[in-house]
Formats: sequence, structure tokens, C-alpha cells
Amino acid sequence: MNENYKIPILTYHSIDNSDSVISIDTTSFKDQMRFLKDYLFNVISLNEVVMHIRKKQPFAEKSIAITFDDGFKNIFSDAFPVLKEYGFNATVFLTTNYCERLNNWPGQPDSIKAQPLLSWAEIKEMSQTGMQFGAHTMNHPYLTRIPLKDAENEILSSKKIIEDQLQEEVKFFAYPYGDFNTDIVNVVNQSFGGACSTELAIADSKSNPFILERVDIFYIKYGMIFKRLFTPYVSCYLKSRRLLRDLRRFF
Ligand SMILES: [Zn+2]
Repeated sequence: MNENYKIPILTYHSIDNSDSVISIDTTSFKDQMRFLKDYLFNVISLNEVVMHIRKKQPFAEKSIAITFDDGFKNIFSDAFPVLKEYGFNATVFLTTNYCERLNNWPGQPDSIKAQPLLSWAEIKEMSQTGMQFGAHTMNHPYLTRIPLKDAENEILSSKKIIEDQLQEEVKFFAYPYGDFNTDIVNVVNQSFGGACSTELAIADSKSNPFILERVDIFYIKYGMIFKRLFTPYVSCYLKSRRLLRDLRRFF
């Protein structure tokens, strides 16, 4: 065990060729999964990630976790077969009121084209093959911009809807747009085992299980960066990207 090994939690959205900020093309996705397989990476579930954090146990080297936000239908057609072939598990965060519909919730930028989301039948099939499902609210709002009661309903109802469909406990949540505050985290903390943020960093055994840092594939999809994700170089690279992003938000 390397005490200092950090765990990259990857965030994917859509597997398509539109080259949008939330897309990665099928070939690159396959290449990335093959890289993880060839170099014997250990794909672990969010459950295992949180278990390590709670027990303050260091992560085994080459551990990594895979997540998908929003629940695009192309996860079923383009990602699931590859994950199944390699025996990798992943967590898909669902926006429950939009399952079987398009991702055209209010607040979706115009640059993101409308695309179909997973059906419950597809979700059930993937669940039976070991994929995990998490809640991502019902309507994908900015949770801090609506009354706390409404935010609570968005969070807890989306959990219940998935649990009713799959007949199993939903343990993880992802904040839409990475938008949260202390009240929101408290609500999530009372009903879930952990939650993913969009904080751009590599998680480690000291991470807060309710604000897990992730690496959005947008920042590493080109060139060799994905393959260098597991080197110290990438922590510096992500830090500089994060600074740039924070500066842009600030201005
Ligand atoms: Zn989302």
C-alpha cells in the first residue's frame, strides 16, 4: 500500500461524437477503458471509495472509480458493453423526471444538444449486471437557488424513485452543476452514504465522503493526459486548470 496514493474518480457524461463539453467519442472512451484494463487498474465502486475514507485506509495503487452524470441513453449502447467486457463497474447518476425523455431540463446551455436519456428497462438491465445507480435530483436544478424544502424534495424523491424502480438502496448522490452549500450537504448526509461534487481534483483517504472530488473527462480527454492521470504531473495540471476555472467564475 502506498499511503499517498490518490483515487481518481472519473466523471463522464455522454459518449457521442458531437465534441461538446460533456461528450467523449466512442473510440476515445474505448481506448481509455482498454488502457485501464491493459495496465491492470483496479476499478472500484463508490462504496469501496467511501469505505476506505471512513476507515482511513489508504487506497491500493492503481485504484480508480468511474461515474456518469445525467444518465444518457448512449451509456447503455456505447459504454455498458465495454464496461461489461472488461468487468468494470461504474455509477450512473440519474435525473429521474427526465429518464426516458431528453436532457432538455431548464438551465441546460444551448451548446449541449438534446439527447435521449436511459429508459428504466435499460437501467434495470445494467443494474442486474453490476452497474450502480445514484440520484442526481428529479429536475436537475441549482440546489442552492431554490428553497431548501424544494431542494430536499428534489434530493429525497429522486432517491426514492430509483429505489422503487430497482428495489435496492440508492447510496450515492451527485450535486447538479456541482452546486451545494452546508444545508444541502446536510440533507444529503442524512439519507445517503456519500456524494460526488465537481471539485476538480483527485480524491484521497482524507476526502469528505459527501464532497468527493472528481476529474471531469473534459479536462483530460485529449492527447496523452488520460494516460498521465496516474502520475504526479497530473495533480499539478489539474490544480492549474482548477485555478483557471475559479478565476473565470470569479470574473
Ligand atoms: Zn448533471
